[in-house]
Amino acid sequence: MRRHPRTVALAIASAATLALAACGSEDEGPTTSVGDADACPGDVVDVVVSVGQWGDVVESLGGDCASVTTVISSTAVDPHDFEPTTGDIAAFEEADLVVLNGADYDHWAADAAANVDPAPVVLDLAEVAGLETEEHAEQEGEEHTEEEGEEHAEEEGHGHGGVNPHIWHSPDFVQQAADAVTAELSALSPDAADHFADRATAWEEELAPYLAEIESLRAAAAGRTYAATESVFDYMARDIGLTDVTPEGYREAASNESDPAPGDVAEFGSALSGGGVDVLVYNTQTEGGVPEQLRGSAEDAGVPVVEVTESVPDDDGSFVDWQLTQLRALSDALARG
Ligand SMILES: [Zn+2]
Repeated sequence: MRRHPRTVALAIASAATLALAACGSEDEGPTTSVGDADACPGDVVDVVVSVGQWGDVVESLGGDCASVTTVISSTAVDPHDFEPTTGDIAAFEEADLVVLNGADYDHWAADAAANVDPAPVVLDLAEVAGLETEEHAEQEGEEHTEEEGEEHAEEEGHGHGGVNPHIWHSPDFVQQAADAVTAELSALSPDAADHFADRATAWEEELAPYLAEIESLRAAAAGRTYAATESVFDYMARDIGLTDVTPEGYREAASNESDPAPGDVAEFGSALSGGGVDVLVYNTQTEGGVPEQLRGSAEDAGVPVVEVTESVPDDDGSFVDWQLTQLRALSDALARG
């Protein structure tokens, strides 16, 4: 039987159109910034970073002496539900160093690194920050004092093994993470240690306006309160000195990524209209009727809304620019609220 060439051609054309449309609106896969072997005084280190929150930081610290592949580099991907494709984990085969967020945020990357032979060096930033997941805590449970247990309970959030994993929103953890990345890069490429030291100094300078903004927010936040649709910004809010008045039931549901009960949502709405909340921290990356409803309640009550995101926005590659935008929004909100 003869085929109909025109039909076949049309079918191919429409398939190509669909593929292009998908490409523009979905995750485009890992991105790589390539080091410069001619400019690097030592070996260029191949680094894989699991999530975009850390990609720009590692690129800045690596300079000419690191090629950095960031696996989740788009906000089109929900990092909580991420399942890597074969293409996503191909870069792990070549990696000298794998940088993980840890705290069960990116377990898939720990698994991918563990399946590579020879194994790359793995740097778990939550471990650097001294955070443990429940899984680890249970294994080592007997060694824990009661006091440590209480500290741990305070850090619950967002359903990642009981620890709030959004450590890139903590200025202390960010600086600890940067120091650890520099140390690992220098260990892997000792002849480039001076280059990495220069990059670390440049990074500290880049961080200065961010730290200055946090410092001025500490003064503005004294005695002020916030409520949040999600826990993504909690480390920063706590560092600045804001008091979290998010109703407990709502916060627990959001931390477990479950739907809050109608009563929890109503309680949140009453808190917003009752005058006890100075600002509402709103994660724009999570879609849903409940957060939108709460935003509406805040706006009706004249409570300023501060927009934050879990991941680096697609239009802004710089970690510091992203953070500064959020911090300035919070500063404006506190001035208004
Ligand atoms: Zn999260």
